Amino acid sequence: MRCSLCKKKAVIKHPRFCKEHFIKYYENKVGKVLDRIKGSSVLVALSGGKDSSALAYAMQKQAKKYNIKITLCFIDIGVNTISKEWKPKAEKLGAELDLPLHIIKLQDFKTSIPELSEKINRVPCSICGIAKRYLLNKTAQEKNFDYVATGHNLDDTYYFFMHSLHQQDLKGILRYGKILRPDIKNNLAGRIRPQIYLTEHENKLYCEINEIPFSSVTCPYSQESSQQKFKKENTETPRHQKLNLVRSIRRLRNKSPLLEEEKKSTEYTLNPCVSCGFPTTTKRNKCSFCSMVEDY
Ligand code: SF4
Ligand code: ZN
Ligand code: ZN
Repeated sequence: MRCSLCKKKAVIKHPRFCKEHFIKYYENKVGKVLDRIKGSSVLVALSGGKDSSALAYAMQKQAKKYNIKITLCFIDIGVNTISKEWKPKAEKLGAELDLPLHIIKLQDFKTSIPELSEKINRVPCSICGIAKRYLLNKTAQEKNFDYVATGHNLDDTYYFFMHSLHQQDLKGILRYGKILRPDIKNNLAGRIRPQIYLTEHENKLYCEINEIPFSSVTCPYSQESSQQKFKKENTETPRHQKLNLVRSIRRLRNKSPLLEEEKKSTEYTLNPCVSCGFPTTTKRNKCSFCSMVEDY
């Protein structure tokens, strides 16, 4: 198998590239997003897994070119496997890249994902998502970062769009993108997802080629996650099919004036949470995180 550009030995089949062209292609995808947020400070959510580790590395490599200031952030959700397996990898990468790493512990809020899940009687992953989004935004706001960067890949994005289509969640579809600008008025940091056109496989390969430390151990709750179940059921879905769906939805969204109107009408009405002051869309005036942590 030969590279489609230079005929050297290919390291990946789709797209068919040699090592050098794959690295160029990969970093170009991440760079395109950095180019649109030049001069910003970014908090990179680092889990210790392949996706966010590859992201932190590719961003740091291009930080000077795009004048981006990067800091890493690891959220310790109080699950043993994650503290023991993922955290050391995140710390190792932080040291190798010579980047500051904030470690935010749910323990500091006197709780953990397993404890909350039992108390509230909800699946761990849905609570975990709420907690991570909240803590990342809180950290970014308190430490004056413009953006939070997350390692959502093409497979995650494909799942998100398919799920949202089934749920008829137009609001979710309209808000999910590569760049969400900061909302200063509402205390919301911007969001970037530079890997939405890069697959899990490409992220892993990028880590392996660059000898980036990452953990392959899975979270014990991943079996219960609807996203993981969906991914298992769709292992045969080819990359081009995922790319086509994600591109089509994004193009449709960007081009359609009707959807722009819809976007405006579905914009969240945000109020400050009575407990923490960060924005909430809930009718109870208390954000989901504070409700989980304080009311149960
Ligand atoms: Fe959180 Fe679920 Fe991922 Fe575990 S599998 S880290 S609980 S979202
Ligand atoms: Zn090549
Ligand atoms: Zn709150």
